[in-house]
Amino acid sequence: MSCAEFRIALSTHVDGEALPPEVSAAALEAHLRICPECRRWGERARELRELAARLDETGLDGE
Ligand SMILES: [Zn+2]
Repeated sequence: MSCAEFRIALSTHVDGEALPPEVSAAALEAHLRICPECRRWGERARELRELAARLDETGLDGE
């Protein structure tokens, strides 16, 4: 399985959606342990996700 496939699975995971059937959570975790690049990619995806959620909550003109 390639990094690209794991990243697709990661991005759905970050969105709170179920993993694709061909990717198990255990396989994803195992890959993240050995692949720092995907780990970084996942962290960035989560940060962007949180940022977007915050903007949704507050609106663009803030308080
Ligand atoms: Zn990878």
